[in-house]
Amino acid sequence: SALEEALLAAIRTIPDYPRPGILFRDITTLLGNARAFRRAVDELVHPYAGSKIDKIAGIEARGFILGGAVAHQLSAGFIPIRKKGKLPHETVRVAYSLEYGLDEMEMHVDAVSAGEKVILVDDLIATGGTAEAAVRLLRQMGAEIVAACFVIDLPDLGGRARLEALGVEVRTLIA
Ligand code: IMP
Repeated sequence: SALEEALLAAIRTIPDYPRPGILFRDITTLLGNARAFRRAVDELVHPYAGSKIDKIAGIEARGFILGGAVAHQLSAGFIPIRKKGKLPHETVRVAYSLEYGLDEMEMHVDAVSAGEKVILVDDLIATGGTAEAAVRLLRQMGAEIVAACFVIDLPDLGGRARLEALGVEVRTLIA
């Protein structure tokens, strides 16, 4: 579609970052393009306009930028999901696997209440490991995950199927 082409054109691809052989999809160019940024946020938001969403959960760090804009548009609160050690209050923590080894992600224990409707936002889904960890944190506190939304899907890496297997609806703008 015209929208997908416009968003694709606004994303920069950096070869061999952060390691040789990796093609990094860089959304800073999309964020810096007023029209593309607005269109991406509008497209993330539009299926939920008019429905009651309590909170948007954004994954550090690019999920904060997109998720903050989405939260404002939906008149929802915002929940930061962060790498361990960054949040000041009591947290819930979950370990998740990276390509090499393990990392941990945290959320404040009082960031969400049981039954609240939450949309998870990040810039990109690859293997889905990061998003799955966020889903586990939110569900641990009793949140109802309405959807997980990403600007970019790397479909060969299977993240969408991984989240769908957990019963999470996945929306992505471009592949
Ligand atoms: P996953 O856990 O394998 O799905 O990786 C997704 C996470 O890594 C997200 O938080 C992304 O922001 C980040 N990520 C992985 N690859 C890229 C990329 O090419 N561009 C931007 N972020 C990426």
